[in-house]
Amino acid sequence: MTRYCTKCGAINDDLAQYCSNCQTPLTPVVSGGYQPMQSVNPNAMTDWKAMGADKKTTAGICAILLGWLGVHKFILGYNTEGIIMLVLGLLTCGVTNIIGIVEGIIYLTKSDEEFVRTYIQGKKGWF
Ligand SMILES: [Zn+2]
Repeated sequence: MTRYCTKCGAINDDLAQYCSNCQTPLTPVVSGGYQPMQSVNPNAMTDWKAMGADKKTTAGICAILLGWLGVHKFILGYNTEGIIMLVLGLLTCGVTNIIGIVEGIIYLTKSDEEFVRTYIQGKKGWF
């Protein structure tokens, strides 16, 4: 970290209070316009994982393995669909598992962005 004198441009130590070349008082670094948040760069990429895409693999695998139980619906917050899935599964002795397998494949083949837009933001209950 070095500080440049605003008057003569000399390089000074960042703890220096006066320019070593021309003795001009140096302004403190903290009062400058620099904002540490910019280093995080929130505008770079949308974090789809943080927005729910991290559930994609879990929901997909649960849909394929335990589809008729409606587990993947509950994971995605679709409680009504989950209960319907569970009741139908019990009534049909698990035949509805085919729905789970199809949905699981759809989930797993979607990109993180598509998954978030369709199921987290779009709240698409089926397929
Ligand atoms: Zn100076």
